[in-house]
Amino acid sequence: MATSDERKARHKKAMQRKKEHIDNRIQQATIDKGLIVVLTGNGKGKSSSAFGMLARSLGHGLNCAVIQFIKGVWETGEHLMFKDHPRVEFHVMATGFTWETQDRDKDIAAAKATWAEAKRLLQDDSVDLIILDELTYMLTYGYLDKQEVIECLQNRPAMQHVVITGRNASPELIEIADTVAELESVKHAFDQGIKVQKGVDY
Ligand code: ATP
Ligand code: MG
Repeated sequence: MATSDERKARHKKAMQRKKEHIDNRIQQATIDKGLIVVLTGNGKGKSSSAFGMLARSLGHGLNCAVIQFIKGVWETGEHLMFKDHPRVEFHVMATGFTWETQDRDKDIAAAKATWAEAKRLLQDDSVDLIILDELTYMLTYGYLDKQEVIECLQNRPAMQHVVITGRNASPELIEIADTVAELESVKHAFDQGIKVQKGVDY
């Protein structure tokens, strides 16, 4: 059996190697640019992660905007928290979930009107971070022109960050993104008959 001193020495050596490796990688990362972050997949945590980045950005004094492409049934905590913040411009699409409106023409008109706000913000270099929450559905349902969305994202100001959420992110979005995470659902309370919970779910 290794003595406690031997274990400590081994641990120290391993940590030194780890630190060298991490320091090297940090040194190699020298590029500074606005990012496209895509949070997709079936697991919980896409929108809440995006709003975590909003909170971080506001903490640093950045100017932010939020566009929510699908309006839920409940008034969300994130809307209540950030809608009146002096450095947040917040837009929520006028219609509800598409399976509730059941009116494709109305949904398309609402999606286009909401996209017009996003497009304006994507040309405004005073906006540091934009959240396009649930944008992916507007592309998979064909409510917005994918090519136009991709072009606007690519032509945005060089230092502007964009966070896009929603399931089934299209390959074109993934292609132009810098960071993509696919959240996997392991289990969800809802599947066990548990109601949505204020603060955790909305
Ligand atoms: P959150 O806003 O909690 O981060 P999300 O953005 O990843 O969730 P959405 O698909 O936008 O997920 O769904 C929003 C709502 O649906 C939330 O109330 C969330 O708790 C719930 N939800 C998320 N994932 C699942 C799932 N796998 N099964 C059932 N409900 C889910
Ligand atoms: Mg979401």
